[in-house]
Amino acid sequence: MKKQIVFLSLYFTIWALGAQSSDSLMFKRVYNEALLKGQCYQRLGELCKTIGSRLSGSDNAEKGIIWAVNMLNSYRFDTVFTQPVMVPRWERSKKEEIWMYSPVLTAKLKKGKWPADYNCEAFEEAIPKPAKSYKLNAVALGGSVGTQTTIYASVLAVHSARELDSLGKLGMIKGKIILFNRMFDESLLSTFSAYGGCVMQRVTGAIQAAKYGASAVLVRSMSNRCDLHPHTGSMRYEDSIVKIPAAAVGTAVADMLDRLCIEDKDMKVLIQLGCKTLPDRLSSNVVAQTKGSIYPNKYIAFGGHFDSWDQGEGAHDDGAGCMHAFEALRILKAIGYVPRHSLRCVFWINEENGLKGALEYARLAKENNELHFAALESDRGGFTPRGFGVDSALMPQVLKFKKLLDSYGIGMIEKGGGGADIGPLKKNNPNTAFVSFIPDSQRYFDVHHAETDVFENVNKRELELGAAAVAVMIWILDQAE
Ligand SMILES: [Zn+2]
Repeated sequence: MKKQIVFLSLYFTIWALGAQSSDSLMFKRVYNEALLKGQCYQRLGELCKTIGSRLSGSDNAEKGIIWAVNMLNSYRFDTVFTQPVMVPRWERSKKEEIWMYSPVLTAKLKKGKWPADYNCEAFEEAIPKPAKSYKLNAVALGGSVGTQTTIYASVLAVHSARELDSLGKLGMIKGKIILFNRMFDESLLSTFSAYGGCVMQRVTGAIQAAKYGASAVLVRSMSNRCDLHPHTGSMRYEDSIVKIPAAAVGTAVADMLDRLCIEDKDMKVLIQLGCKTLPDRLSSNVVAQTKGSIYPNKYIAFGGHFDSWDQGEGAHDDGAGCMHAFEALRILKAIGYVPRHSLRCVFWINEENGLKGALEYARLAKENNELHFAALESDRGGFTPRGFGVDSALMPQVLKFKKLLDSYGIGMIEKGGGGADIGPLKKNNPNTAFVSFIPDSQRYFDVHHAETDVFENVNKRELELGAAAVAVMIWILDQAE
């Protein structure tokens, strides 16, 4: 009996070691392919430098889609196809100027008192020498109406919805340009949580301020850096409320204006924006697929959004996410892995200002009876991977590999997965379980939606590690029943 127990335990140890080593071998093969023969960095460079930004409805976005189809076809995946969909079209104009007139600032500059008492060196770059008026770095928010001619008014800074309401009730908003200057909460470790805490001032600020008769809004850029770069992003209007222009200013400019609101009663700002909304345009999602060997009608979709804002090159947001997904599909094919489920790399269109691509993808999945048992989204930049957010249905499967994930530095497993582009899948198919890819978040909002989101700010090694992390996660999901 004792002999039997010893034999059995030895057998299970060897079996467990065997299982473990075949799993670690798989991880190793994926990482070797990503780090030694990686393609994602080079491809992201092509996308950023030959196409550039890809705002939905723009000619550039359409050129990018042609590039993506050709690029994916060159890897000979089982299928590459597009899903046509109408997307909104909004255009920035060259006529985009914001000027500030501030006698107090001019007097201070003449005395050399500015910006010596400020703690951000970007102030110095913002206003280098005294002048009659000062041109401010600013960009229209995506979807903003233009100014008929120009708007010239005094500025009032607010830091919360409650402050806006109380000033509005006192009649102090009427005719003013409202500066929304709520800052990121620096105590939060995840910059995404800090972003979530103040992004609504960008999204609905124009609606809230217009209710009290404001003439325009300026919004502090959604960033934790103190600099001059304005970060654009989506904003909304309500049909029943007058539509007023909205623009973003760099964090340093927002702080300067905020202070001048108090120090200079004569400070005024002039806004001229020529942006406009045009009729919707036909665009498309791009999909590359490897057919499943056991469950060809069950899908694992993974990807990012192909569109970007018109500032920068959409390198981190979300060229990186698209390249993670493409590279994961490529790596699994390159190492000869035969998937059990059908694997789909998806480049969704129009995440930034409409989500039309994601909605169409989910609609087609339902119409064609494509059962998506899992979907993963990468839309947090190409930074060092840390882990994943995972839906409870997939948690036991993912946790089986926790040790291995830990050993590759990607074992931070958070409860709950999701993302803007995979979200609509759940509505049509409640059994779809979500996974979100989580890279380090500390530098993402330095560049998010700004002219600095360019290829040069993506690190090759970090991008490749992200692609490898996505590839092993897809492999883990593919092992589930
Ligand atoms: Zn994004």
